[in-house]
Order: sequence, then structure tokens, then C-alpha cells
Amino acid sequence: MAPEVMTSPSHPVPKHRAARKVLTVQGPIESAKVGVALTHEHLLIDFTTVLTEPSAASQRGMMDQPLSMENLWWVRYNWTSNRDNLLLLDEPTAIAEVQDYFRAGGTTLVDVTSVGIGRDPQALLRISRATGLNIVMGSGYYIDKTHSDWLRKASVDEVARSIIKDIDDGVDSTGIRSGIIGEIGCSWPWTDNEKKVLEAAVAAQRETGAPLLIHPGRDQRAPLELLNAVEKWGGDLRRTVMGHIERTIYDRGILAEVAATGAYLNLDLFGHDESHYPLAVDTYMPADHERIEQIEYLVGEGRSKQVLLAHDVCSKHRLKRYGGHGYDHIPTRIIPRMRARGMHEEDIRMVLVDNPTRMLTFN
Ligand SMILES: [Zn+2]
Repeated sequence: MAPEVMTSPSHPVPKHRAARKVLTVQGPIESAKVGVALTHEHLLIDFTTVLTEPSAASQRGMMDQPLSMENLWWVRYNWTSNRDNLLLLDEPTAIAEVQDYFRAGGTTLVDVTSVGIGRDPQALLRISRATGLNIVMGSGYYIDKTHSDWLRKASVDEVARSIIKDIDDGVDSTGIRSGIIGEIGCSWPWTDNEKKVLEAAVAAQRETGAPLLIHPGRDQRAPLELLNAVEKWGGDLRRTVMGHIERTIYDRGILAEVAATGAYLNLDLFGHDESHYPLAVDTYMPADHERIEQIEYLVGEGRSKQVLLAHDVCSKHRLKRYGGHGYDHIPTRIIPRMRARGMHEEDIRMVLVDNPTRMLTFN
């Protein structure tokens, strides 16, 4: 691809043609247009890859029931054990739900539905046009369980090319371009194919200057292992987002070590206010007040420039029409709570606007 910017001998690296821009499904926009942003969401997703049978035989029938008032509490508690709950496939619902976020002052939303969990570029474009929201679409591949036969056999270079194509030319023949690499799914233990995909994602980051967003495995050691690999492969840790911090890192010392890498730290499960965590029953899902405390800790350690916020909506029970909190939970409820606890306005602006803007702006 021809470089857009002439390079001087002192700056020999060719600039990507999206350089200094943010790449949305409607095309590149100026960084200043990002505004309030959620950095890890799913507007449409088929998340049945996490579907698990209820452990009690007497509850097996719950798996295929449609979500209703009668089973809502059960589904909230066992949210991975109900198929209907894991399918967000209705566009009018997505539009209505995300419009509330727009009305609450939100202007940008990063949809990191990667290949393997139902990414739909055309639908994201229609939702962006219907709502006026800037939508940044992900690229790359989710966890091993969702990998296609092609992906299992492909080389690092072939996988990298597929990601670069999404960013440079758009997905398939749609012309709709990805503005972020992710979420790149990594399990614990980390599988060989997932290693290949992350190495390819790093290569794509190096070539395009795009941000890279990682879903770590559920172990406190995972984030550092992954970030060390990104660095080893020549990736830019300051252009890398470590996701799901709150459900992965419970130890402040480890959190400080991960922060010291310079990567962005995504507190991206706001609204998941249910301590039972069916994907990791030996631990727990922190509540919103613990997320806020983690952010206060990071701000106190001088890490405010690395904090990002999101809800990671990926199931019906998180949507308002199914009794959930919706995409506007952070602006309408969490930010006022942060303010009430004394968080400074410049730090609130940092995590809500400045950090996502810097993260999403191509090198
Ligand atoms: Zn996600």
C-alpha cells in the first residue's frame, strides 16, 4: 500500500493512511470527534460458544427456554447456561438499546465482536447510521473454541494479512473497515493456535498502527504472559489494551506490575453486578464498587492515562428490555458515583474521553 505521508530520512517509517485518524465503520474521522467512548462492547453477538449445561440434571430444561420474567433471576445467575440469553441478533433491539447511550452523551462505541462470534459489518454500519454513533469495529479472532478450519491451518503471515485487509480495504467485499484489532481471544492455558493469532495480530499492529485489544485467559498470570509476548514480537504496549482486568486480576501487586508495562487497562465489565461467575466458579465477579475502587487505586498510582471503561454487553440479561442495565449504565450511574466519591473532573475526562481517543487514533 502506498504511504499517504512523505517520509523524511529521520522518520523512515511509512505512515498508515489512517494515521492520526480514528477508523469507524463509516470511515475515518478526526480524533476530536471521538468524545465519550465505551471501549469494549457487543451490539450484536452470537456468544453461544460459552454455553454450558446446568450442573443439576433437574435444571437442564432451562437451557433452551426463552428468557422471560419467570426465569430472569435464574438466567442472571446462570447467564452462560441459557442459549437465548447468549444471542444478541436483533438489530432494532440493538438500535433502541444503544440510543439511550447516545442520549446520555455517548458518542463512540467500540464493538470488538471478532471473527468467530458473529461479527456483522453491514449491521454495524446500519446501526451507526440509524443512531449517529461512531462505531469502531474489531478484527481478528476470538478464543480457540471458535476457530475455523482455515484458521487452524493458516500461517502467522496469512492470519496477519487477513487482519490487515480488514483494516486497509474492509471486511470481505463490504468496504467496511476495522478500526481496532480485537478482541483477540486467549484461553488459560494459552493454546498454540491462540499464540499464532496473537503473533499475527501484533504483526498487523506493526504494519497498520492500529490499536490491539486482548481478551486474557482467566488467571492472574495471563495478562503479563500475553503482554510479554506482544513485546517479544515487536508490538507496541502503549497501543495495546488488556481487557477484563477486574475478572482477571484480584491482587494489587499484580495489577501494579501489569500497569507498569504501559498497556491500557480495560475495566470493561461494569454492570456485571453478580458475584457468582459461572465461567470461573472458584473465584467471583467483582461488583461495580470494586471496579470503582480499582480505578481509584490506579489513578492514585499515577496510572489514570491507562484506564478505559466499558460494559462488555454480550447477553440479553444486560439489556434494559430484559431487565438489565443497558449501554448507558456508565454515563448515567457510574460516572456520578465516581464524582460523588471525589474523583477529579480531569481524571473522569481522562478515562471517558482522552484515553479512548488516544487509544483509537492510528499511529
Ligand atoms: Zn467481549
